[in-house]
Amino acid sequence: MGSTPFRVAVIGAGASGIAAGVRLRQAAVAFDIFERADDVGGTWRDNRYPGLACDVPSHLYRYSFAPNAEWSHEYSPAAEIHAYFRKVAGDLGVLDHVRLSNEMETAEYVGDGLWRVVTSQGDQGLYNAVILATGILHQMVLPDIPGRDSFAGAAFHSSRWDQELDIASKRVGVIGTGSTATQIVPAIVDQVASVSLFQRTPQWISPVPNNAFSEEKKQQFRDHPQKMGELYAFLNDVFNNRFASALVGANDEALAEMARACRENLENNVHDPDLRRRLTPDYQTGCKRLIVSDKFYPAIQKDNAHLVDTPIAGIEPGGVRTKDGALHELDVIVYATGFDPFAFFRPAVITGRNGVTLNERWKDSCQAYRSVAVPDFPNLFFIGGPNSPIGNFSYLRTAEVQIGYAMQLVRMLADGKGREIEPTREATETFNAEVSEAIRHTVWATGGCTSWYFDKQGNVVSWPWTYARFEADLGAPRMDELKVA
Ligand code: NAP
Repeated sequence: MGSTPFRVAVIGAGASGIAAGVRLRQAAVAFDIFERADDVGGTWRDNRYPGLACDVPSHLYRYSFAPNAEWSHEYSPAAEIHAYFRKVAGDLGVLDHVRLSNEMETAEYVGDGLWRVVTSQGDQGLYNAVILATGILHQMVLPDIPGRDSFAGAAFHSSRWDQELDIASKRVGVIGTGSTATQIVPAIVDQVASVSLFQRTPQWISPVPNNAFSEEKKQQFRDHPQKMGELYAFLNDVFNNRFASALVGANDEALAEMARACRENLENNVHDPDLRRRLTPDYQTGCKRLIVSDKFYPAIQKDNAHLVDTPIAGIEPGGVRTKDGALHELDVIVYATGFDPFAFFRPAVITGRNGVTLNERWKDSCQAYRSVAVPDFPNLFFIGGPNSPIGNFSYLRTAEVQIGYAMQLVRMLADGKGREIEPTREATETFNAEVSEAIRHTVWATGGCTSWYFDKQGNVVSWPWTYARFEADLGAPRMDELKVA
């Protein structure tokens, strides 16, 4: 790049890309954000199914630099969250840097601290660092069910909800029982002729109500912003020191409490003993991503709701046939079958030192150094990379921690204190050996279930320690674990 000014490419304009943009602006570092879609907002732009609300409390799911007194609910709906991100991006000057409908196709390390980024709109030139803010749960998984394409009605993945479709009086099948399906069923049950929920595995459900904030409460937040700070601190303690710690074997009392609450929810709120039995998981609470809902059990007990727990044999033009031979006739099928959390930046191709691609490096398992970097890929920083705390934390806080880490190294590069920074192989191997050991103590591994947290090799996608350790490990770069040239 010679005399060209220092410049950073950010890939993705979702929650983490916007936060990266804010920090780069504050640091007066030049940058471009490439976004494949025609709007910012990531998962909150893509997911528009009925009933979608973030199941992390709104006053926790917000940027530290943009508290928001206007949240309508304790768990606010998707459109409001999307509007929040657009507003922050606009107010804080990030939108001016976003190149929409401009997908990164390749990023190639060309040496001397420089990356060439090629996007769907052509060659975008050379960058001194790349921040991959490409999200985690965005590449949908469609189930491999025989005859899937033969269905005669409307069929789509939950993240591609057909907004034009009028589901009133339709017979709707929902496949899956994760966070998504358990939000969709209560939201549609009163509009449709019938809803059939195809359950492969029952879920533990925590009965958390979702109250609206009164106008008085919002006014209090506006007048006394410190009250939002106090609420944040309280919620953060509950989530990180109780809930999240419980999952990684660091708070057994909180895990037992969570299990008790879920069991009581099932026992007190599902009245028919046979339905209750069919909805009872045979694994430990917290093993799969915990579901938060006080609406699902009432919904699945309505007369027009049917829990189908006989395995699916195939899909036919008229509906879903189960292995007992029954045909469940349907007009609409919703695949609430989740995402591939190991897809990360794909389908882009990222090529590091000596022509090695990240796809080759990660062909067996996606492994990084402390969730943020990979040897041989200098000046490339992940937000939400492998082993980021996900699933049980506020992703916005996680993203801010990782951006804070990356920014310290970007600052060094921008100040000329090195042209290339990358983690050492030894430090990366040590970190991943520690991850493998730590996983064994998490309820994800010991709880007796399968879940999207693990890849085929048994590596975990999330952070297997406490959140306090994440913040300590990422607070400041360990320079003895990095190579600076
Ligand atoms: P998910 O948790 O991965 O659930 C997918 C569901 O589909 C599971 O019940 C799975 O059954 C079922 N399934 C997959 N393939 C199937 C097949 N061939 N036949 C029958 N059933 C099949 O996906 P999700 O509900 O979309 O949630 C993914 C994650 O997104 C959540 O865990 C959460 O982290 C996040 N999320 C968050 C919110 C929010 O409010 N913040 C809302 C939605 C999602 P098995 O359990 O048997 O595999």
